[in-house]
Amino acid sequence: MTRVAQLLPQVRTFLDQRPIPMFINGEWVAASAGGTFQTLDPGQGRPLATVAEGQAADIERAVSAARTAFRSSGWATMPVQKRAAYLHRLADLVDRDRQILVQIEALDVGKPLAQADGFDIPNVAQTLRWYADLAVRTHREEPLQVAGLEARQIRVPYGVAALVLPWNFPLLLVGWNLSPALAAGNTAVIKPAEDTPLSTLYFCRLVQEAGIPAGVVNVVPGYGETAGRALAEHPGIHRLGFTGSPEVGRLIAASCGRNLVPVKLELGGKGAAVVFGDVDPAATAQALVAAVTLNTGQVCCTATRWIVHERVWDEFVHAACTAMEALVIGHSFAPDTQMGPAVSEKQRQRILGYLQRGVEGGARAVLPGGRAEVAGHPSGFYVKPALLSGGPENICARDEIFGPVAYLMKFKEEAEAIDLVNRSAYGLANSVWSQDLARAQRVAEALVAGNSWINAHNVFAHGVPYAGCNLSGFGGGVLGPDTLLDYLRPQSIVRPLG
Ligand code: NAD
Repeated sequence: MTRVAQLLPQVRTFLDQRPIPMFINGEWVAASAGGTFQTLDPGQGRPLATVAEGQAADIERAVSAARTAFRSSGWATMPVQKRAAYLHRLADLVDRDRQILVQIEALDVGKPLAQADGFDIPNVAQTLRWYADLAVRTHREEPLQVAGLEARQIRVPYGVAALVLPWNFPLLLVGWNLSPALAAGNTAVIKPAEDTPLSTLYFCRLVQEAGIPAGVVNVVPGYGETAGRALAEHPGIHRLGFTGSPEVGRLIAASCGRNLVPVKLELGGKGAAVVFGDVDPAATAQALVAAVTLNTGQVCCTATRWIVHERVWDEFVHAACTAMEALVIGHSFAPDTQMGPAVSEKQRQRILGYLQRGVEGGARAVLPGGRAEVAGHPSGFYVKPALLSGGPENICARDEIFGPVAYLMKFKEEAEAIDLVNRSAYGLANSVWSQDLARAQRVAEALVAGNSWINAHNVFAHGVPYAGCNLSGFGGGVLGPDTLLDYLRPQSIVRPLG
């Protein structure tokens, strides 16, 4: 039997707090109403920690603290190099406590330790450093050449950035959203997802240790309909960054519309992979199985529709089934686990429900998926990967399932494949697989989405903007150099010359 990783004592102490308090104005505080909620280890289906449940009154305290910190902590006005030094110090602390954060994230989301360690947590430190350095290099003042005027444009931070975030990559998305906001000189209030608030709360200890002034970063855990809604509707925020579902994105955008708060929406997706007949079918199938099972398929941009040329269809489908069946499903702490559980029973039911409706709607279950049993963890929320095939109108070809489910469609001509991809109401990310790079580039350009990848799927790099269009969101995206500018408002200063 393989050895399961041991819980670090620091993680045990952190999780044993009853409850884990929220972080407002540099202090650890209980919820105003005294409420708490539980988060689960989805691998065991058992409570993991008890967390203070923030509500409107706590959001009020947090926004007020962030406004005060923006006005008077010195964060917004200090030299950019000094702010960058704080963010570097914070990144160093994330690196120092990497294994603690890895364990917390793996337990709260259910993702394999190796994934949290190989991607999620180091990425947070990298993002902090990348935006800190970019902020130092970015010109914030530009002379304007206009006859008769002495004119210039400056860029200054907005004020309070509200960040409402999902459960699939909790701390990585704190990194992607908080880093540009802070590097620009804003202060922030974060509402992490109720399923996975733990890593964001632990991160606040590091914010404190880094010496970042009180009130610059505030975290209010709680439910979407209460804490999330109160934050989105708060008239005291100056910007909002939301990552989550289109349904909630619409509500958030409506609140921002009412208050005229600029908003960035990073929403769901229904990514496609176009596989041409000149690829190695087995290697491509392997890569796409890895993509659709990453984080148990709970990845907004992953490849969920596989549009495969008839020439390689049989070999590709066979190889995909073999790879899916060989996948080791298990608890996040078991060292051989390749795919963990769904994040919650609700999410598992969503996945199973879609599989049932897809088959009822005429899809063929090449691999049926379903509940998975993992020895020793009978109450975990495990599912098997599934492979369906059928027409483009099937619900499983149209809706974001957010699970390890791929939907196969066959094509003959390039134009047919492009049409199949572009039928989606989403527009986040697609990939093209071909040895003919001219064709791959041409098709990549024709796909309507924020991101087109060639011979790879799920490619994220600091400096490459990651954004969606249509149902996948708007507002400039994340990870690019422009994201920093999104958190700086332009202001012109003009003196007519006599
Ligand atoms: P969700 O929309 O249910 O929740 C996201 C956040 O919004 C949570 O913090 C939640 O508490 C909060 N919320 C819920 N109702 C609210 C309300 N009425 N007012 C204010 N806040 C509210 O999404 P989820 O289930 O946590 O995450 C999955 C979704 O996120 C998927 O659609 C996925 O594709 C998307 N996602 C997108 C990206 C991207 O970069 N585009 C990245 C990760 C996840």
